[in-house]
Amino acid sequence: MRWMNYPCLRSAMILTAIFLVGCTPVKRLYQVAEPASHPPGAPKYSDVCFSSRVPHPKNSADSLDTFRAAAQFHATYLNWVYTTDAGFIRKADSLGLKVQVTLSPTLPDLSSDPPQRNTGRILDAEGKKVSAPWMKGWGYWWGCVNHPDFRKLWLTYIRNAIDAGAHGFQVDDPAFSQLFLRNKWADVCYCEHCKAKADSLGMTPPEIQEQSVVDFHRWAKQQANAYAGREVPFSCNNFRGEWELFPFDEFVYGVAELPERRANPEYIYASLRETRRRGKAQVFSFANDRAFLTEKVIATVYACGGNPLVPWDVWMGSGKDRYYGKPEDFAPLFGFARAIAPWLDGYEDAFYANTQDEFRYTDVRKLPVFFRDYRRQIHAFVRAKPGEHHAPVVVHLVDWEVLTQPFDIFFNEKAFFKSGIGRIELLVPKVYEESEHDLAQKKKDFSSLVMRRELQSERGNNKLKVTIPAIERSWAVLVLYPGRP
Ligand SMILES: [Zn+2]
Repeated sequence: MRWMNYPCLRSAMILTAIFLVGCTPVKRLYQVAEPASHPPGAPKYSDVCFSSRVPHPKNSADSLDTFRAAAQFHATYLNWVYTTDAGFIRKADSLGLKVQVTLSPTLPDLSSDPPQRNTGRILDAEGKKVSAPWMKGWGYWWGCVNHPDFRKLWLTYIRNAIDAGAHGFQVDDPAFSQLFLRNKWADVCYCEHCKAKADSLGMTPPEIQEQSVVDFHRWAKQQANAYAGREVPFSCNNFRGEWELFPFDEFVYGVAELPERRANPEYIYASLRETRRRGKAQVFSFANDRAFLTEKVIATVYACGGNPLVPWDVWMGSGKDRYYGKPEDFAPLFGFARAIAPWLDGYEDAFYANTQDEFRYTDVRKLPVFFRDYRRQIHAFVRAKPGEHHAPVVVHLVDWEVLTQPFDIFFNEKAFFKSGIGRIELLVPKVYEESEHDLAQKKKDFSSLVMRRELQSERGNNKLKVTIPAIERSWAVLVLYPGRP
């Protein structure tokens, strides 16, 4: 091209190009973190969700005590409880625990002892009641969402629980009849009410089930809100944090098991990111014979903006004992979550890096946070306050190795603050001391359960290098403050 023959013009264009590149605004983490509305009534990021599937002690021979254990783990929620015991709900409420009562398609008939399940049930084409394959022989007949008697029963459970002080509800198997159709367990529902409704719509009884289930959940929620005079949160059992399966999207949050094959940081991050994208929240239940794995899951779920359920009273498979985690194993992590509430609540996902990032082809030095050593298992979850340019940025570090070691992490200062990074504080859970935990719980001041320390950094080329000491309890939190302008 001819202009290339004019050295002055060429230099000017090159200089302009350099100037334009230099002026490309760096996208900062507070701009990347997206504001997400928190579903009303769902646990906050700093809440401690605890479940006693049934109230303990069950009888005089039962040495377990739900309320003592909930206090040992610093619980704020009592989720997924199968109870109709008004006294238990009232006591929990008086202790400041938000109780979530479980509803399921197999709710027993009122005042039936031993419990019967005959009121308003689903019927197959032959007029027989139906049950899920794993409930064979139990007499657990499933209720029909179109049957007025079952709707009345459902509403009675809701009202009784609200009267006793329940905060919200967890719905197990919320797909009802649609679960039978989807899995081809049975052709349903041929009760007189479904048949009449189908006739009026010119459809077959199975064809009306999906919409009927949606209508049922919306009706129940509206009834609960009207009765309580407030927004009553309904969650559902959305296995492994799934939202796409019918009808999970009808619920504001999920309380579900995380299967062992999904107990890894990549899955947890992806699942919770999708949860937030949909404006939902998620509580994950996970327990394992290997306490270190449970510990890493707890740390990662909190680090990604979810709530791990305290591993207590967990079904571990048929023929196995239920699992009751010990406070010395897990209370340090839950006490830590309470203590660092200001660094959890209001923060949203802004970046995720791990030591498997591809250094060989990608210039990772351009990323906000990066590593220089290929090690399998360090994960950095970066969280920022959307739109707040001066708020400290929080980096949760979770070490998924069993034997942990010190490591280096790098920060690209310009991605954090206009004035660069000032001081860096490291927060980790403290070693368990029963008396310290008791006192913190009594005073509702958890600051003593955190070990704090200032970290030194090396600066070069707008990058900071920080050496992190071995993370003993899987989880460390870095709080990065803005530098002086
Ligand atoms: Zn029916």
